Amino acid sequence: EKLVLNGTLIDRGEASVDIEDRGYQFGDGIYEVVRVYGGRLFTSEMHLKRLYQSAEKLSLHIPYTMEQLTAQLEALVAANRLDTGIVYLQFTRGVAKRKHHFPETSETTFVAYTSEMERPLEKMRKGVKAVLAEDIRWLRCDIKSLNLLGNVLAKQKAVENGAYEAIQHRGETVTEGSSSNVFIVKDGVLLTHPATNLILNGITRQVVFGICGKEGIPFREEPFTVADLRAADEVLMTSTTSEIMPIVDIDGKPVADGTPGAITLKLQQAFDREIHALSAA
Ligand code: PLP
Repeated sequence: EKLVLNGTLIDRGEASVDIEDRGYQFGDGIYEVVRVYGGRLFTSEMHLKRLYQSAEKLSLHIPYTMEQLTAQLEALVAANRLDTGIVYLQFTRGVAKRKHHFPETSETTFVAYTSEMERPLEKMRKGVKAVLAEDIRWLRCDIKSLNLLGNVLAKQKAVENGAYEAIQHRGETVTEGSSSNVFIVKDGVLLTHPATNLILNGITRQVVFGICGKEGIPFREEPFTVADLRAADEVLMTSTTSEIMPIVDIDGKPVADGTPGAITLKLQQAFDREIHALSAA
């Protein structure tokens, strides 16, 4: 098993982290998770574009062009003969004596590795349970930063309650999942929180908008409330690893009739076609 460390492909067991790496001490870094289907990176341009945006917002330097980065990720996937899974990549502000402010000199630490991961087909067919959790995170959720404690605590609450995901809300407003975006369907219209500082603008979320355009499914980027969520015709979440996942139970109460809805199914089918188009390309 290989990984990429600062531009070099090495054996996984040979990589190490400096105890004064700012990612390790402060969570001072950013990351991405890119899906691999049939050995090919899925929507990697969108992921890398978001990575550069996250870097810019934190004045973090990425010493590679998008083409160089893509080539490194493709070489990694090939070296590990990965078919279905993910590539995880992260950049930190590097190694420096521990002080909160940015160091005057340090080189970013770049790590990328792969992990096998099947598509969650069974869950996507049946739907999953969710719990509500107050959104206690900071006000820059648009940055895909390594600081994930709020998300960690929310997901822990879900797991402790036998649920797959936590749906976070700031007061009455539903924001997003602990590691996903959340949508509802009301009267045939798909709604999700707008891409402000309060959510991560998910790549799968953006793929869903593209599908809506092609399939003629009306959608609006508009905040909705916990009450709207409870009264929704359909609830779904999206993420790179979970794809388009129906939520059929929230806090132990069924969503509508407790089965995945028609619009969710239509989105899933169109998403499937995008995945299959990748391997045909
Ligand atoms: N929101 C949060 C907080 C996330 O961590 C993620 C990613 O896992 C998402 C949304 C979904 O984003 P994407 O579709 O790019 O995976």
